[in-house]
Amino acid sequence: MIIVLRPDATRKQIDHIIAKVKKLGLKTMVSSGVERTIIGVIGEEDILRVQPLEAFPGVEKVMAILKPYKLVSREFRRENTVVNADGVKIGGKKIVVMAGPCSVENLKGLLAIGKKVKSSGAAVLRGGAFKPRSSPYSFQGLGEEGLKHLAAVKKQTGLKVVTEVMDTRDVALVEKYADILQVGARNMQNFNLLKEVGLSKKPVLLKRGIAATVKEFLMSAEYVLSNGNFNCILCERGIRTFEDATRNTLDLSAVPLIKKLSHLPVIVDPSHGTGKWDLVAAMSKAAVAAGADGLIIEVHPNPEEAFSDGAQSLLPEKFAEMMKELRPVAKAVGRDV
Ligand code: PEP
Ligand code: MN
Repeated sequence: MIIVLRPDATRKQIDHIIAKVKKLGLKTMVSSGVERTIIGVIGEEDILRVQPLEAFPGVEKVMAILKPYKLVSREFRRENTVVNADGVKIGGKKIVVMAGPCSVENLKGLLAIGKKVKSSGAAVLRGGAFKPRSSPYSFQGLGEEGLKHLAAVKKQTGLKVVTEVMDTRDVALVEKYADILQVGARNMQNFNLLKEVGLSKKPVLLKRGIAATVKEFLMSAEYVLSNGNFNCILCERGIRTFEDATRNTLDLSAVPLIKKLSHLPVIVDPSHGTGKWDLVAAMSKAAVAAGADGLIIEVHPNPEEAFSDGAQSLLPEKFAEMMKELRPVAKAVGRDV
């Protein structure tokens, strides 16, 4: 349920309503928009039916949110959420590009990639230090050493850092080095992990599960928001279908759909979405045209030798070309890149 306040509601009136709702054992989440403030009520809301909340001073109307996700819904917040990752804003007019290798391999290589993607216009460096691999025999990531490399490249280039956290036990560690905590597709329904990153002060990049519906995806984001973290970015990265010509089927219709259903920023990962480097530029342009707020792209100077996902990694030169091609597309839809 949401309580929509009158534009002239005072702080005292708002505090009075919150205190009343809390006394009934329910949780409140306040969204202060440009025009008005909304109070989201979470919990067994039926109890509120006997309370004439509309009669409280400052209240304009009380609405039930019929969707299973509440805090992530557009009903709860009409304006787009803009996530601030150490100064880089995701969800505003500028399309934010995150780029880097699939896995952090070594400091020298990471720094070289960082400098190149930065000069092409990327704002955030990606790279996994903890890797969710299908085989236990594949490279599992450098762990904390990889996180240190990411932080070192941030210091030298000014790029912000996004990296995956796979385990609740590692959240505190990853938080120390990263600007954005990535929850990977395989962990989209790891509810304990979602709760833990929901308690973090760092923004979260939540990737869509391998076979998750949009509704399940939004319910997972609800876990993050309901634990207090409203800085959540959603990432469409392809889903599993019968089609096996590409690694996944990139569901670009999810972008305008989620933008309609939710206020959260949406980015697209065409690298995992297609699995093929030569499809990445076309799908990036399509993603921007579809309304994506950003892209996350795998870039490697020697894809043949990459520790993971070489087949879908762009050479830095190809990435630079792609960034140029994105500009007119962004402009056509009223955005900058
Ligand atoms: C990644 O970003 O390298 C990754 C493992 O992505 P996903 O969780 O989407 O498979
Ligand atoms: Mn990868």
